[in-house]
Amino acid sequence: MGWIGPVVDDQEHEGWVVPLFADGAQGAGASSARGVLVARRPDHGPCNGDRVRLTCRGGSIAEGVWQDGTVIRGDGIVHPRTSGEVGLEVVDQAEEWRPDAAVVGWVAGCTCGWRGTPWTRVPRPELADPAARRLATAGPWADLEAADENRGRQEWRRHIAGWEALEDVEQAAARQAAAARALDETVRAALAAGASWVDIGRVTGMTGPGRSDETAAGRRTVLVVDLDGEPLAPLRALEEILLCLGMWEDDDRRAPGTGTEPLRVPAPLAGRVALAAVQRLLTALAPTQSRRPGCGRLLAPDGRYEHAPLTVLTLPAADINVLSATADALGHPRLNPEIADLASTFAEQLGSGYRRTDRTDLVSLLARLACLLDLAPTDDTRLLIARLRATPPGTDCVLSDAEEAAHARTADRMNHMWAHGSSIDRYLY
Ligand SMILES: [Zn+2]
Repeated sequence: MGWIGPVVDDQEHEGWVVPLFADGAQGAGASSARGVLVARRPDHGPCNGDRVRLTCRGGSIAEGVWQDGTVIRGDGIVHPRTSGEVGLEVVDQAEEWRPDAAVVGWVAGCTCGWRGTPWTRVPRPELADPAARRLATAGPWADLEAADENRGRQEWRRHIAGWEALEDVEQAAARQAAAARALDETVRAALAAGASWVDIGRVTGMTGPGRSDETAAGRRTVLVVDLDGEPLAPLRALEEILLCLGMWEDDDRRAPGTGTEPLRVPAPLAGRVALAAVQRLLTALAPTQSRRPGCGRLLAPDGRYEHAPLTVLTLPAADINVLSATADALGHPRLNPEIADLASTFAEQLGSGYRRTDRTDLVSLLARLACLLDLAPTDDTRLLIARLRATPPGTDCVLSDAEEAAHARTADRMNHMWAHGSSIDRYLY
């Protein structure tokens, strides 16, 4: 007779009409010719009629039936309960049935513990008035008529509405996570087949050619989210790799013809070209991350909540292109094995204790960072950039409704690029 509801966070919601008794006891949801089964309260000790087992300090055990706080053994002798018992265990619960006539009302209930508003039982149908929360049964039994039971069910449905919505969210999040994993796999397959991150950014709709005035003079004006330093870690690992490569190139130049083949470093890794670009990007990006409070907050309309800080940065387009090309070179399937080993070493150091990272992960992070810095300008980003530029440093920026909507769409695009649309990370922005 239960109504099956959603399961959220391992909590089941199953509802039923709970019969009520004058002493506050509640029905368990079962009825028979014996009457109405009474529910045990979860924290309730033994009840009269339960079989209990007493363990005493010396280890002796006494079993019997619980009656008004004492234990009556099989031989009818009342076990004295003063002799230092250390355990009391209910071996077999006595079912308590009460007559249907003892039911004084009903309430909609749920297995999660929720109870609705009680109805009072009136003795004759002509006294019933559901609006005044008075119900009667047609016969001597305590079971409600279908129409009245449905009133309880409607209340319970309102109780679970929020949980049902949550269950939908849970399922949608699982579908999104599965889609993100599928996207990850296709991206890895495309990289293995020789596609570049620039191509991937283009086909996923994340990057594209900007308007000519914004790419003029080789500069990109971009919005950078404060992700608490997350984008800096792969960039710093890359800096270490490129510093090492630079030293290797120096060694080859100082000691030519020692019999070993000089290392062939591909562009733009060679000649510290990539190193210089990465160091410029690090210098520009570092102040945008883990910003101190007091730098001015970015607030939703009416200050309802705070967004992660956004900074407007103008970067050399060439440096972003070099970063993208560097990621491509490091991810190339035929990368020189020595350079690949070097990249792997620093990629592994990037991993935090619970997650292993390899060269592919590092390349993926770097490429996504390059795409993030190359996010195609839209009316939304132009609006936000104009607004942020007009906000004096150190003062709060409260977005208008239109700017808030632009922010939401932009944060979605950035998150798609950076975290493959992870629904959890999205709330960081
Ligand atoms: Zn519930």
